[in-house]
Amino acid sequence: PKTAYVRTKPHLNIGTMGHVDHGKTTLTAAITKVLSERGSGTFVPFDRIDRAPEEAQRGITINLAHVEYETETRHYAHVDMPGHADYVKNMVTGAAQLDGAILVVSAVDGIMPQTAEHVLLARQVGVDHIVVALNKADAGDEELTDLVELEVRELLSAHGYGGDSVPVVRVSGLKALAGEARWTASVEALLDAVDTYVPMPERYVDAPFLLPVENVLTITGRGTVVTGAVERGTVRVGDRVDVLGADTETVVTGVETFGRPMESAQAGDNVALLLRGVPRDAVRRGHVVAAPGSVTPARRFTARVYVLSAREGGRTTPVTTGYRPQFYLRTADVVGDVDLGGTAVARPGDTVTMTVELGRDVPLEAGLGFAIREGGRTVGAGTVTEVG
Ligand code: GDP
Ligand code: MG
Repeated sequence: PKTAYVRTKPHLNIGTMGHVDHGKTTLTAAITKVLSERGSGTFVPFDRIDRAPEEAQRGITINLAHVEYETETRHYAHVDMPGHADYVKNMVTGAAQLDGAILVVSAVDGIMPQTAEHVLLARQVGVDHIVVALNKADAGDEELTDLVELEVRELLSAHGYGGDSVPVVRVSGLKALAGEARWTASVEALLDAVDTYVPMPERYVDAPFLLPVENVLTITGRGTVVTGAVERGTVRVGDRVDVLGADTETVVTGVETFGRPMESAQAGDNVALLLRGVPRDAVRRGHVVAAPGSVTPARRFTARVYVLSAREGGRTTPVTTGYRPQFYLRTADVVGDVDLGGTAVARPGDTVTMTVELGRDVPLEAGLGFAIREGGRTVGAGTVTEVG
């Protein structure tokens, strides 16, 4: 039998963001190396992070690598993404549920367009805490690096991140990977800053249980398993649950995380749930497993929506009533009819109110974030303001 998962440390989800080539992947590899040498993680080399297989999630193909490690006080799941488009997609669809982010800025190059865009994106999707890694400090000139630091603090302040108090740590992912003591220490200092500056987010463990289904698998002889991140509440073996979308009620007969059985899973955990007597083809990504009677699916809602500008990869032409894109709500991917009210138009770069009629019922609630996609790209990001 597999050893049970023992929750010894709080779990947080973090990730690297920043302009291409500023060293996000190198730094991610360096973090795992430094921690593996302390005995609290497994070294994940650069190539394994950067060539992570494409994962098909939320009906769209996205690229992201997950690495797992522990500091003295916390357990982290860390995401790194290869390209700018991957950041936009993962962040707006909520696939990267970041409790905090490490903004990687090259001390040699300073702020670049994607640096600023990722800060904006982080603000929009509710990432409240950013720690800065001023990377390539081994190659940067000291005075220039001071200037870059000032610039980064200003950028963060402009987006409401309190640039004066944000930790800015000068690091070298490359030299830490090479095992140079000074730079190994710099990565340790960065991790300490993350540990202390990014607070433990509020987890709604007392709320009714809810898990958006990411994937469905069959375990021979045991039954159907659904996987995903617990959005809120707690679940344990023996609990009754509704499977919304499959319109069925069942009992959870197993709970696992990272391949290890656990007594109970809670908000923020990545888990697999074994469901009693549910046929494999009855459940799909996009369905929601929830405490019985705790959510009501609906198809009509009002929302505030930001229409991405062309520069952000969005549309070049306005949106009007009658527009019919795909809506990504939690893990669901549903077509919807947009109504802007009469002849109103929403131009790329605008934030507007719209009413949406989805092609089918999904669990909705005020405050739920979603992405709008068309022809394989993200064209909008919004929040439900009213259901019905
Ligand atoms: P990403 O696109 O942000 O993930 O950047 P990569 O990690 O792929 O790094 C881009 C380039 O910068 C590679 O050639 C790295 O070797 C180099 N690089 C990364 N970190 C450092 C560093 O700390 N110092 C120096 N001198 N070069 C670095
Ligand atoms: Mg990379």
